[in-house]
Amino acid sequence: MQMQTAVEAIVQSSLLTLSPSTSVTEAIAAMNEARTSCVLVVDNQKLAGILTERDVVKVISSGRSLEKLTLADLMTQTVISLKSSEIDNIFTVSELFNRYRIRHLPILDDRDRLWGIITPQSIRNVLKPEYLLRYIQVAEVMVSNVICGAPNDTVLQLTQQMALHRVSCIVIVNAKTSIPLGIVTERDIIKLHASKRDFDRLSAQTVMSAPLSTVQPQNSLWIVHQRMQQLKVRRLVVTEPTGELAGMVTQTQLLKRIDPAQTYHVIEQMQQIIDRQTSELKQLNEKLRAANQELHRLATIDDLTNVANRRYFNEYFAREWKRLARCVSPLSLILCDVDRFKCYNDTYGHPAGDRCLVQVAQTLSQVIKRPTDLVARYGGEEFAIVLPDTNLTGAEHIAKSILTQVQQLQIPHVANGNGYITVSLGVATTIPTQNSSPNMLLEMADRVLYQSKQRGRNTYTLNV
Ligand code: GH3
Ligand code: MG
Ligand code: MG
Repeated sequence: MQMQTAVEAIVQSSLLTLSPSTSVTEAIAAMNEARTSCVLVVDNQKLAGILTERDVVKVISSGRSLEKLTLADLMTQTVISLKSSEIDNIFTVSELFNRYRIRHLPILDDRDRLWGIITPQSIRNVLKPEYLLRYIQVAEVMVSNVICGAPNDTVLQLTQQMALHRVSCIVIVNAKTSIPLGIVTERDIIKLHASKRDFDRLSAQTVMSAPLSTVQPQNSLWIVHQRMQQLKVRRLVVTEPTGELAGMVTQTQLLKRIDPAQTYHVIEQMQQIIDRQTSELKQLNEKLRAANQELHRLATIDDLTNVANRRYFNEYFAREWKRLARCVSPLSLILCDVDRFKCYNDTYGHPAGDRCLVQVAQTLSQVIKRPTDLVARYGGEEFAIVLPDTNLTGAEHIAKSILTQVQQLQIPHVANGNGYITVSLGVATTIPTQNSSPNMLLEMADRVLYQSKQRGRNTYTLNV
């Protein structure tokens, strides 16, 4: 869709259209006035032919009299044109330019009526080729075989040279120094003819455009593009840093550089560079991500039990506190302490105590279900369970599950109540506020945990 719009934008709708019966002299005058490089010949609303600057130069150079000629006599009748519906992208168009060696592509509507024209100029106005052009040097694209003339050559001689070599300009050069002095273009010839000057007597140095605005081989095509727009010219003479003629760069060459066949290689190379850099970057990023993950894990996980450590608990608890204060939603906290654990260590040894803590931690992790719930090792044999968006009833439900699941582990502990490892729980709930501290909920939970111990252990107490 966007491409379609860009393509439509390259169609230039201001056209010079004349009927086939118009005299060539009149047509040349009209082209000169409109500063356009072609006339579209229209008959009965249909495109009948085209006459370009190049055709005019050809006929003038042949010495043929233009007096009685009409456009019908001179125009090219088989015009390469395109239907507006057939323009699918800019590259199709520039490919046509290259294939037929044309510089004017008339565009017809569905009913074959002339709608507009595409020229390298109209494409260049729209394409904004700066990105590509910055990376290409004049030396890579310039033509070094430039057709030159001397200051004293007559305009007729220049015209003949243009026709002979099928070029659109002649560079006037000082033969001794090789320094270019000026340029004479097809358009100049048209102008001179329109003002009825005598081509036989007029010398190149009196009609040439001078001084020349030149570029150097090491300049980028972007410089060329800018200079061409600024000076409203279609070609620039290239000189060596010492001033001698090196070549010429034209608008058509710029256009070729934005043709897919020409640019494919450059684009491919850029793509390869980008791909390589991207994959190197990806690998580095992956290493970095893994390192960061490990670092984070080390910083937030308890070594023994693999649940969150106290440090992460503090961070998470404070964060949830703030969030729930904003949402005005309850936060529950369960503190869980292993019963008579000192005695367990004394009976079964410290390593067994460690294994027991791991099992309890795993059990707690299995009981909680929501992704926002968190189990953390709060201290030696004490765990904290954070339950965001959970009211006291919800927290009580979790507390009951914890008691059951830990008992079902059936870790023998002869000195404890029923002969197995049990835990005591303190359950507290509040709706956090911006002004209150999360410590308040910790204190509440701790207080009721103490009550559970006092009430004989293996039980929970709610803070109500
Ligand atoms: P209560 O039922 O009142 O909680 O009695 P308790 O013995 O569990 O309480 P107390 O706080 O007196 O003892 C806690 C014991 O937990 C002390 C320590 O030996 C043990 N402990 C703390 N951290 C670890 C640990 O990482 N590994 C092991 N094996 N034991 C630990
Ligand atoms: Mg304890
Ligand atoms: Mg204990």
